[in-house]
Amino acid sequence: MPAPTIVWFRLDLRLADNPALVAACEQGGPVVPVFIWAPEEEAPWQPGGASRWWLHHSLAALERELQARGSRLVIRRVDSSTGQSSLTILQELVADTGAAAVYWNRRYEKEIIERDSSIKSELRGVGREAESFNASLLFEPFEVANLQGKPFQVYTPFWKHCVARAAPPLATPAPNALPAPVDWPKSLPLKELNLLPRIPWDRQFYAAWQPGEQGATAQYNRFVENCLNEYKDARDFPGEATTSRLSPHLHFGEISPRSIWHEIWGMIREQGGAKTLFGAQAEHFLKELVWREFGYHLLYHFPHTDLRPLRPQYENFPWKDPQQAQTELRAWQRGQTGYPIIDAGMRQLWQIGWQHNRVRMITASFLVKDLLISWQEGAKWFWDTLVDADLASNTLGWQWTAGCGADAAPYFRIFNPITQGERFDAAGHYVRQYVPELAQLPDEWLHRPWEAPAGVLSTAGVTLGKTYPHPIVDHSAARTAALAALATISAEK
Ligand code: FAD
Repeated sequence: MPAPTIVWFRLDLRLADNPALVAACEQGGPVVPVFIWAPEEEAPWQPGGASRWWLHHSLAALERELQARGSRLVIRRVDSSTGQSSLTILQELVADTGAAAVYWNRRYEKEIIERDSSIKSELRGVGREAESFNASLLFEPFEVANLQGKPFQVYTPFWKHCVARAAPPLATPAPNALPAPVDWPKSLPLKELNLLPRIPWDRQFYAAWQPGEQGATAQYNRFVENCLNEYKDARDFPGEATTSRLSPHLHFGEISPRSIWHEIWGMIREQGGAKTLFGAQAEHFLKELVWREFGYHLLYHFPHTDLRPLRPQYENFPWKDPQQAQTELRAWQRGQTGYPIIDAGMRQLWQIGWQHNRVRMITASFLVKDLLISWQEGAKWFWDTLVDADLASNTLGWQWTAGCGADAAPYFRIFNPITQGERFDAAGHYVRQYVPELAQLPDEWLHRPWEAPAGVLSTAGVTLGKTYPHPIVDHSAARTAALAALATISAEK
């Protein structure tokens, strides 16, 4: 019987199309699935509160899937105060199980790449096989380059390049059974990782999400059945459930982008190609999936951009001192800015750990342009509160909005929270759901309550400054101030 192989699970919490798991099964010996909780090794981007919630439930789902196949998930926690690390835990597990190989799927954040490379060489140094694979991306950043051999910095050529490349490998099915070792190494109960919050701010998460591979597949099927055929036209309206809500499932690797890619291209071909009505809608969804790839491409090639702007002139942008902007930052975080679309978005984020993409652009723009608070502050808040917090996509989204990243919205394009609300939430479903104190206001005033006549406000039960805040800034004055701030740096326009 060949020696056991350890499969180290990370952001690939699925059994279908999991190349590290496939390779382990091909060895023919027992497979030992392992998860190691080592948040300190991810500093400064340790998983935030909402991500930990998701991780807990996703690991529980993975445990169930493994058990159904005669296997287990070995859970360990790094206690860095005793000199432990993921490496020492893997070494211990290798010694305990007699494993000849350790396999895992790659991650692309710089701290993780450094850690994983050193683990690989340490394990190889003592004669173990250590191999990594691609489970997360369609095209890995180091295999993609423009005609000059450089990283892409503009999305459209990146998309065209991805479509023209050879398709990624086909997805593989989940194994029916996994050979177990004779003796299992010791494991912690999942709850000892303390991933769930002590104060129960997560109540509404349970109705909104089903973490895990089965939840991801169900969500994908629902989306394809009900929303894909009008995705392009409907995706910008936050009051309707028209987008896939697959982002946390994709982040935690519960669904394979490769399987989505092949399946949807298959549907497009079946329906007559990308130029058909269906084709255009469905292709747009794949374009969004490629925005995710673009984020990874940028983060890998420009690893400093998690904390610093890609365009260096933005290093000198005169952001407000975070200490002096505490009150405004808090109003934004809590959904108390007095701008209904912003407040709805920030409360949606708090309540279900997710915010609609259009609204992310509007709320992010409000923070950096209306309040002149740095994108890094916003990125930190999103990091802690999003269930899909993802360093590549979050960095891309914030730098795009602030105007300091690759292919970014120019700084002088400033989202107007009133007209954006009126355009994308005209019937007010979104604002009424998350800002119920304005629910009785007629549509005409819903996105600008401060302009409503006194009688209208009183009939709707709204007292500005009491039941709902006055706007914390005047948007037109803030816009002028933002443009003046921009003029102080030599930015490309
Ligand atoms: P769909 O519209 O159904 O899109 C399908 C998938 O494509 C998504 O699940 C996601 O994986 C990917 N995708 C879609 N839009 C984008 C995009 N603009 N950039 C990168 N990938 C995209 N996305 C995250 O996954 N994690 C983040 O931390 C994150 N932070 C963001 C911060 C800001 C300021 C902004 C403007 C955007 C951010 N996004 C982030 C991107 C985007 O808002 C979400 O991916 C999207 O809202 C997820 O909803 P969905 O799954 O219904 O998307």
